[in-house]
Amino acid sequence: MSRNTQVSIHLDAIKSNFNVAQNLAPQSKNIAVIKANAYGHGMLKVAQTLEDIVPAFAVAIFDEAVTLREAGIQKPILILQGVHSCEELEYAIQHNFWLMVHNQSQLEILLKYPIVGDLKIWLKLDSGMHRLGFDSVQFQFAFSQLSYKNPKTIQQNLVLCSHFCAASNSETDSVDSQLKLFNQTISNLDNHSKFEKSLANSAAIMGFESSHVEWNRPGIMLYGVSPFDHPHSKDNLLKPTMTFTSEVIGLRKVAAGEGVGYNHQWIAEKAETIATVSVGYADGYPFAAKSGTAVIVAGQKAELVGRVSMDMISINVSKCNHVNIGDKVELWGQNLAAATIAKSANTIGYELFTGVSARVPRIYK
Ligand SMILES: *Cc1c(COP(=O)(O)O)cnc(C)c1O
Repeated sequence: MSRNTQVSIHLDAIKSNFNVAQNLAPQSKNIAVIKANAYGHGMLKVAQTLEDIVPAFAVAIFDEAVTLREAGIQKPILILQGVHSCEELEYAIQHNFWLMVHNQSQLEILLKYPIVGDLKIWLKLDSGMHRLGFDSVQFQFAFSQLSYKNPKTIQQNLVLCSHFCAASNSETDSVDSQLKLFNQTISNLDNHSKFEKSLANSAAIMGFESSHVEWNRPGIMLYGVSPFDHPHSKDNLLKPTMTFTSEVIGLRKVAAGEGVGYNHQWIAEKAETIATVSVGYADGYPFAAKSGTAVIVAGQKAELVGRVSMDMISINVSKCNHVNIGDKVELWGQNLAAATIAKSANTIGYELFTGVSARVPRIYK
């Protein structure tokens, strides 16, 4: 028997979360974002699960798109960082990849080839994220060059897009100002109303109906985590998709004044019962998780104590009944929101999910 630390992936829940995105934006087509191994869930399995119900997939980088094609996925795949050479562009054209174009050198590569067939070019405006994309003036110039080179196909094959920097944050009106800049910029383009557009990530799909256009790009919401940094009325539409479990492999009593784990970072104030669990930061349990972080053992609430080790954590089970060696422990998932654990480790659900390491088997349910 192998070590009993694993993640269960709930494929039906991913499907259901995709349908939530679709129902929230019924006029839009939703591209399932499955970059970074589908946020740690297994890119191929997730792609196979969604292929019949999505119009297209999005990944971050070229290699991810190649992996999907080589494994037999046939839907269009948008590469969010685009391609970086003529070789990649030729491969992309042959394999029905769609390409984000966000800088001048990508544009120059693209201008060497006719834009025909099913190739979609996603021209990206930097409307405020200040990470990728053309500024307003460059964007209009890029648009003119592409239109000039491809007068017949451009309307069919170009998507005008941008990305929000803080749609998950209730304390800014950045979405409104980004939308305004986007709309202003595209209003200067010839026949602008005839072009498809794309703006919304998960937070905008759930929170800003005004951002829903022809194409949306849901990511984290497919994996059941609220994108918001505050409680939101639509959070409970999403179902958890990843349950991270391990088991108790040690049990002991500690007396008042005794420390637990490296550097005795936690010291018992009274006699306590401590269980050792076979999961650590090498598996993707966050090193930064604080003492007091919630854990579920044999269906009961317990708390992390002391420092997270490479392969183990310690939990205080004094308030639980009958904890035994071999008992199942849930670290996050169906009974414990990943967002809660993320908060306690000063991180975000995205990082927890993508951080589950290769040592941990993914079991598909
Ligand atoms: C990752 C990504 C998304 C999805 O974002 P979520 O917050 O996970 O919904 C959408 N668009 C772009 C450009 C991205 O990089």
